[in-house]
Amino acid sequence: MKQLILKSGREKSLLRRHPWVFSGAIERVVGSPEVGETVVVRSGQGRFLAYAAFSPASQIRARTWSFDESDTIDAEFIAERVRRAVAYRNAVMPSDCEGVRLVHAESDGLPGVVVDQYADTAVMQCSSAGAEKWRDAIADALIAHAGCSRVYERSDAEVRRLEGLEERSGVLVGDEPPDAIRIREHRMAFLVDVRGGQKTGFFLDQRDNRNLVRESSKDKAVLDVFSYTGGFTLSALAGGAGRVTTIDSSAEALACGRSNIAASGLDANAIDWLEGDAFALLRRLFDQGRRFDVIVLDPPKFAPTEKHVMRAARAYKDVNLWAFKLLRPGGLLFTFSCSGGVDAALFQSIVAGAALDAGVKGRIVRRLSAAADHPVALEFPEGEYLKGLVIGVE
Ligand code: SAH
Repeated sequence: MKQLILKSGREKSLLRRHPWVFSGAIERVVGSPEVGETVVVRSGQGRFLAYAAFSPASQIRARTWSFDESDTIDAEFIAERVRRAVAYRNAVMPSDCEGVRLVHAESDGLPGVVVDQYADTAVMQCSSAGAEKWRDAIADALIAHAGCSRVYERSDAEVRRLEGLEERSGVLVGDEPPDAIRIREHRMAFLVDVRGGQKTGFFLDQRDNRNLVRESSKDKAVLDVFSYTGGFTLSALAGGAGRVTTIDSSAEALACGRSNIAASGLDANAIDWLEGDAFALLRRLFDQGRRFDVIVLDPPKFAPTEKHVMRAARAYKDVNLWAFKLLRPGGLLFTFSCSGGVDAALFQSIVAGAALDAGVKGRIVRRLSAAADHPVALEFPEGEYLKGLVIGVE
């Protein structure tokens, strides 16, 4: 087998079972491994460290499949990882939810592989060379173990470019998906467009946080900013909100939100849909004298990597500042960041700065994260991308 030999002393992170090998850690490559090919990673002294997938175009030059020398990395190995990922979901998922993250990449021992299941359709995203190589094996394993009849690929995330991979989407197994797949989430129904929707079509990571918004919304005036297809809007209404104002810049997302309201049997008349730029709309609502009891801020990834942190920090500060200004005394702000480049401590300090500038005194009522079907492997803290704070203001 072809090999990556690390520079002396650079084996430490692998010994702690962190799954990435950065290009700068590599002393030499033995043989000429192909894109995605399995290589043995060895220390400078020749000690076996891991089997990993080779990614010549990426700064993350290899992603680990296994730290056990007796393993064989083949379709059976990959299928077993998928089977374990599915078994874990069966243990943690509520029975009345038909949307589930089945595979959460590195944290499920499948670097670069994300799979979301919507009813009988699995949607797979491969964002690394190794994931790409085993695409068909993963798809077959999903059919065998996940109880789905169709696998659709949405490998169109920008990160593929960093790996030198073309963007691609289409059916892998089964027939073409319908325009909208209906999933149940507790008592709500959501329509998911797996072909044209954002990411794999829906944001499953916010499931538990939607429950919290539902529990906090009775008779409240709620503002759902960056709503996408209305996940938090439906939750607020399901919880008895008096009125919900819903903002997103995507007309398609809001149209789907309207369909979700109808599919869930909720009152469409209780919602004001505002299509446009949240940064401008928050200011306009303030000028109009509108105020809210509960505000949800769930912006897109402003900082995909650390390079974008400064700009992202300004954007988070701005939306949080206006949210604090729009909250009534005693109100609650649910504020999120899904940026890998902004860690929990930085996010908290941005939110604190926003409250200070808004002249508002707040306290952290709760810290939020992604639902249990998005686990974070202890040795892979990068897996924890979604951070949320519930702030109660005086
Ligand atoms: N809260 C949603 C997920 C939000 S994803 C849920 O629970 O399902 C982020 C959303 O922000 C996307 O729908 C995107 O269309 C929207 N968006 C991105 N930039 C925006 C902007 N400047 N103003 C308003 N919406 C924006």
